[in-house]
Amino acid sequence: MEYKNFINGKWVGSKNKEKFENRNPANWDELIGVFPKSGAEDVDDAVAAAEEAFKKWRLVPAPKRGEILFRTGELLRKHKEEISRDMTREMGKIIQETRGDTQEGIDTAYYAAGEGRRLFGETTPAELPNKFAMSIRQPIGVCGIISPWNFPMAIPTWKIFPALLCGNTVVFKPASDTPLTAVRLVEILAEAGLPAGVVNLVHGTGSGVGTPLVEHPRVRLISFTGSSDVGKQIAASGGKTLKRISLELGGKNAQIVMDDADLKLAVEGALWGAFGTTGQRCTATSRLILHEKIKDDFLSMFLERVEGLKLGNGLDSRTDVGPLVNKAQREQIQSYVDIGLGEGAKLVAGGKAYEEGECQKGWFYEPTVFDGVEPDMRIAQEEIFGPVLSVLKAGSLSEAIAILNNSDYGLSSSIYTSDVNTAHVAMRDIEAGITYINGPTIGAEVHLPFGGVKDTGNGHRESGTAVLDVFTEWKSIYVDYSGRLQKAQIDAVTIE
Ligand code: NAP
Ligand code: MG
Repeated sequence: MEYKNFINGKWVGSKNKEKFENRNPANWDELIGVFPKSGAEDVDDAVAAAEEAFKKWRLVPAPKRGEILFRTGELLRKHKEEISRDMTREMGKIIQETRGDTQEGIDTAYYAAGEGRRLFGETTPAELPNKFAMSIRQPIGVCGIISPWNFPMAIPTWKIFPALLCGNTVVFKPASDTPLTAVRLVEILAEAGLPAGVVNLVHGTGSGVGTPLVEHPRVRLISFTGSSDVGKQIAASGGKTLKRISLELGGKNAQIVMDDADLKLAVEGALWGAFGTTGQRCTATSRLILHEKIKDDFLSMFLERVEGLKLGNGLDSRTDVGPLVNKAQREQIQSYVDIGLGEGAKLVAGGKAYEEGECQKGWFYEPTVFDGVEPDMRIAQEEIFGPVLSVLKAGSLSEAIAILNNSDYGLSSSIYTSDVNTAHVAMRDIEAGITYINGPTIGAEVHLPFGGVKDTGNGHRESGTAVLDVFTEWKSIYVDYSGRLQKAQIDAVTIE
């Protein structure tokens, strides 16, 4: 039950000997484990190990690095069930979803492994004779990886696997709500044959471990997924050492349902989008924009389904919705519900903590729906990150898209329609990094770019081949075999 940091290939305690507990959010009597509450000295050790390991790792051929990731995928597959069960115990989402989270790590491992035999640069003609030109990708160095708790396997693998494939070394600071899944991932990377120091794990808080990692002068890159507030702090303080900073931040995602949509399908989508992972997804459906012609019909079908959702322990296969991750998260949800009521929105489902039966020892909250929400209300603008859905009304496609775009965020989006013209206008005009047609706002696949516009990030993308641009530097190489000084732009080649 007592877990450690992983530095230079060894499991070690923190220098300050401090510890923190990890408990089950569905039953706070259940202790999952005790983890080191590390500090700046531990970060220093981890960075030193990663820097040393980089000297050799960067020279390992990329296809061979890929083979270790392939073995990592095989091991994740072998241990998928136990990893997923532990993940449900430590952060609460239902077992079907934690299996999906682990599967995303497996998919990412295989995808990254394949990239080891590509990692393409370009060869291109030079403008001068007897000269050869090409570009290659090079690793950057020590990468600091800071991840949230809602996808404790998938998100770290989106970052760590491509980082390693590209030849970088890693210091990983997981969310303090999900340290166990991080231990499982690092154990498997070590078992797959990753050399000592290539991945290092340091447990602890955002200020105790995250801040020294971001400020560390020898960390060359920070890849962060989390809230926009923390992302802005990281961009500012990491900018002082001119490190590369890749940020994946919050969302306020909307699903539009047009009057020509398949309403049954749209109800399924909204239910899954809003209440999957108890609404604690960066891509969760937080706003539902209904065409006025179908609004009443849609809402009555939808609310009937919301009433039927079963709350409980995520390990019970009958459970639809697990607990929130912790006490602070439940307090935040309640405060937003109070804000919504104060703004004059109409509560049509949920609206309070759920404490029936076995749920009384967990951070459960009723699936909550507000009708009559206006676009500028705070519950329509701010990320709530819980099972709270705001319903808005639109009279036309252009009004629906305008409402959707009236947000500081731009991560995911969705429209249900049976009109191909409507779908194409939406694909073009919605301001978001991801748009689904006739699917909910959640459900990304690992071989397409993932990320958002506006306050959702700073222009980087994870997943797909786009992530390689995060974890490599381009180098342009010119080979002049003319045997004389040739000046680009000056020695013009004349064509007789
Ligand atoms: P968070 O509070 O921003 O924390 C994210 C991570 O940063 C955690 O590991 C946290 O450590 C660490 N951290 C906190 N303060 C820090 C600081 N000053 N310096 C460095 N690191 C720091 O976010 P969260 O509450 O865990 O996650 C929810 C947020 O993540 C939501 O806003 C959600 O939209 C966003 N999210 C975005 C995506 C995406 O891809 N766009 C995906 C998932 C989640 P501790 O755990 O120890 O506090
Ligand atoms: Mg926990």
